[in-house]
Amino acid sequence: GKSEGRNVYRFFEPGMDAMVRARQALETDLEAALPRNEFELEFQPIMNIAAGDIVGAEALMRWHSPTRGLVSPDNFIPAAEETGLIVQLGDWALRKACTAAAGWPHAMRIAVNVSAVQIKSGSFARSVISALAFSGVPAHRLELEITETVLMDESDTVLKTLSQLRDLGIRIALDDFGTGYSSLGYLRRFPVDKIKIDRSFIRDIDNRDSAAIVRTVIGLGAQLGITVTAEGVETEAQLDMLRKAGCIEAQGYLIGVPAKAAQINRLLRSGMAL
Ligand code: C2E
Ligand code: CA
Ligand code: CA
Ligand code: CA
Repeated sequence: GKSEGRNVYRFFEPGMDAMVRARQALETDLEAALPRNEFELEFQPIMNIAAGDIVGAEALMRWHSPTRGLVSPDNFIPAAEETGLIVQLGDWALRKACTAAAGWPHAMRIAVNVSAVQIKSGSFARSVISALAFSGVPAHRLELEITETVLMDESDTVLKTLSQLRDLGIRIALDDFGTGYSSLGYLRRFPVDKIKIDRSFIRDIDNRDSAAIVRTVIGLGAQLGITVTAEGVETEAQLDMLRKAGCIEAQGYLIGVPAKAAQINRLLRSGMAL
């Protein structure tokens, strides 16, 4: 009830105050960062395991703050979601990513992370279509990575937007697969094209249970006709296990770290894994 809420607030009051002020300062800096061109995209290659070649790359956002240094997206994306800046920032990333991909060989796909806030904004489909038109990249080369938090919102906007984009030929990937609490339910309700197994499962692949989960997800993907990508592949042993289990794609430091646009250009033109 109300009194309980008040007690909780009072209990945290001194620390909360400092946290709220730090968060507000972060949000103020973030608002200024876009017009100041402080954001950049890096691109991490994705490999087809059986063929051993690079099939595309994921765009990952970087914030080079003049006062804070390099800020991790895990730190600034939540703040950008809270202020709504993510809508503008996400549009920027989509355009930037598609523009970069326009210069890649035509078989290479570009994957872009999308926040739930963007999709709920109502203007998302229009932004995506405009980024494709602007860059000249065909829809089938674009992959949108969403997490369960997007699907948890079962509003009409989310469902309609995702199916509209999918009808255009854009692929939908379910990111961080296995970390939520009802991933399987979402697979049944939403038509996704790809599952990205969260890197925590790959990191612990030596563990019998993690290995069983990874094999099961790979089998599930095969049964459902969904591409499975393993995230966070760092060792040859992990890649070997994934190959034997029939995993289709791999991404991680072993294949390539996130790289600047110019570097990824060179890598993708060569079409070879590192
Ligand atoms: P994510 O989408 O799961 O991206 C993968 C993260 O794992 C990236 O971290 C990547 O650098 C890191 N990674 C890749 N390979 C390895 C590996 O072998 N080992 C380890 N330990 N890590 C690896 P990053 O770039 O810091 O991004 C963190 C998260 O921030 C992303 O997780 C994504 O959720 C979010 N994010 C990044 N860019 C965007 C964006 O443009 N829009 C939105 N909405 N979110 C973004
Ligand atoms: Ca992702
Ligand atoms: Ca992920
Ligand atoms: Ca993540």
